[in-house]
Amino acid sequence: MKTCLLVLLTAGLLSCAEAQKSTLKVDPEWELSQEEWQERLSEMEFYVLRLKGTERAFTGEYWDNKEDGIYYCRACGLELFDSKTKYKSGTGWPSFWDPISKKNIAIEKDYAMGIIRKEVLCDRCGGHLGHVFPDGPKPTGLRYCLNSVSLNFLPREEVKEE
Ligand SMILES: [Zn+2]
Repeated sequence: MKTCLLVLLTAGLLSCAEAQKSTLKVDPEWELSQEEWQERLSEMEFYVLRLKGTERAFTGEYWDNKEDGIYYCRACGLELFDSKTKYKSGTGWPSFWDPISKKNIAIEKDYAMGIIRKEVLCDRCGGHLGHVFPDGPKPTGLRYCLNSVSLNFLPREEVKEE
C-alpha cells in the first residue's frame, strides 16, 4: 500500500515538473544576479526584463514604429525580431507574427494573473520580452506581443553584417 502511494506521488511530482519544463537555456556568460542586472539596466528595463513587468499600452517606443530594421534584446543584444514580421495589432505593444529564429527565444508557461499564458523570453539572457497569443495573422497565426523597453531597434542600413 505504501509503495503504491509512493509511486503515485512520484508520478504526480514528475508530471508536475514536466508541465513546468522550460526551453530556456541561458548562456552562462549572461547568468547575472539581480543586483548586476539592476546596475546595467534602467529602472523600467529592469522592471520589465527581470521582474517580468509590462509597460503600459501605447507608451512604449516601438508600438507604432514602422521603420525597416531589426529588433534586438535590450539586455544582451541578441537579434530577436525583424520588422518584416511586425504588424499593426492595435494593442499598443509592438507585435510580430514570427521571431527571426526560434533558437533565440524561449517560451515558458506563465501562471500569473490566474490564467495560463505563454511567456516569451530572450534565450541568451533570460530577459522577459512579453507573451505569445494564438490570435495573430497568417502564416503563423501567432501574435508575439512584446514590450518596447525589452527591445532595441536598429534601422536596416545600420545593421552590421556578421
Ligand atoms: Zn537577451
